[in-house]
Amino acid sequence: MADSTLSMARPITLLQPTRLTIGAGAVAGLAEWAKPFQRIFVVAMAPTVGFVDRIALSGVVETFTDLPPEPDLPAVEAVLAAARAFRPDLVIGLGGGSVMDVAKLVAALWDSEQSIPDVVGVGKINGRRSALAQVPTTSGTGSEAGIRALVTNPQTLAKMAVESQFMLADIAVLDPELTYSVPAAVTSATGIDALAHCVEAFTNIKAHPLIDGYARLGIELVGRFLERAVADGGDTEARAGMMLASYYGGLCLGPVNTAGGHALAYPLGTRLKLPHGLANAIIFPHVLAFNAKVQPEKTGLITAALGLDGWTNEAQVLEQAHGYCQRLGIQMGLRHHGAQQGDLSSWAEEAFAIKRLIDNNPRPMGVSDIVSIYQNAF
Ligand code: NAD
Repeated sequence: MADSTLSMARPITLLQPTRLTIGAGAVAGLAEWAKPFQRIFVVAMAPTVGFVDRIALSGVVETFTDLPPEPDLPAVEAVLAAARAFRPDLVIGLGGGSVMDVAKLVAALWDSEQSIPDVVGVGKINGRRSALAQVPTTSGTGSEAGIRALVTNPQTLAKMAVESQFMLADIAVLDPELTYSVPAAVTSATGIDALAHCVEAFTNIKAHPLIDGYARLGIELVGRFLERAVADGGDTEARAGMMLASYYGGLCLGPVNTAGGHALAYPLGTRLKLPHGLANAIIFPHVLAFNAKVQPEKTGLITAALGLDGWTNEAQVLEQAHGYCQRLGIQMGLRHHGAQQGDLSSWAEEAFAIKRLIDNNPRPMGVSDIVSIYQNAF
């Protein structure tokens, strides 16, 4: 395990939304908070647009619902154009990670000279005048907690990452009732995404005790509640537990971030058009197993929290974590999702090039390691 004294000494900064409200029915309280605002622009999607009425906002409200999942640049630019025409003083993201990432960009850029390509990278956004409220309706990305947004580049199909303190929410509202309608398949895949955020930060070469605490809480919540949330979408306690796990995962992303797992998942998401959560779920057991020998204690804590049996080698970690994902109903083999053997080496080069993540992995990962993982996941 990494030297904890050294990791404790490394300076890090943790940003969180100014206000956080959690609990069943909590979304109704957003109207009171939003009273000072006159013009409210809500970013939503078809499954979440019905929740706007539950908030009972006063003021002039415009809701944009024509957003595809995992939006690319032209899709985000269409939302920006609508916001420019409307001129909001408050932007609300009411949806999963796709919606919340766009709400961040819209709040920061609708009244700015800067375009999205101008702000790709870290710390490029000049400022933000509109307020931002984030209301997650899936439990996975933790986007409501963080300062990052991802937009697909339509030419390269790579995800462009924008990171800025000016995309942090003024308020995040975690209301588990908004996730009752999430289908079981989306619940399981997004739940593993939340788990992967916590696990990849916990086992990261940049791991820090401050973030390890949140990561462990998130992993334990997934262990207690994900199977229940998948089995019964109306289980309020399980849905609330998963919302909190997702939020903790979001906190892990800012100061530490993910590592090999997410780097390997990105090409699957963009090339096979797999939802972000599913791509991560397919890769998760493989990277957990790959890293086990360099992070045995932390891997042991993770598998115990997930209720998995003891293991003594990499193959057993893989078998058990794979079984866990399968029991959640996730269709694991890449071959079931349209992958061809001939694709794997170019995807491995692509994953290896995501240096901002691959370099965080606790066990160095070369292109040949990545090809082997894709082959095992085939
Ligand atoms: P999503 O937002 O694309 O939603 C998945 C599907 O579920 C969509 O079809 C959506 O319409 C539907 N849905 C959402 N809420 C629902 C509800 N309450 N009931 C029924 N259906 C509902 O998926 P996601 O996994 O939440 O987000 C993925 C996106 O988030 C990707 O673009 C990914 O790159 C991004 N992401 C961002 C961060 C970050 O730090 N900002 C982290 C991870 C992922």
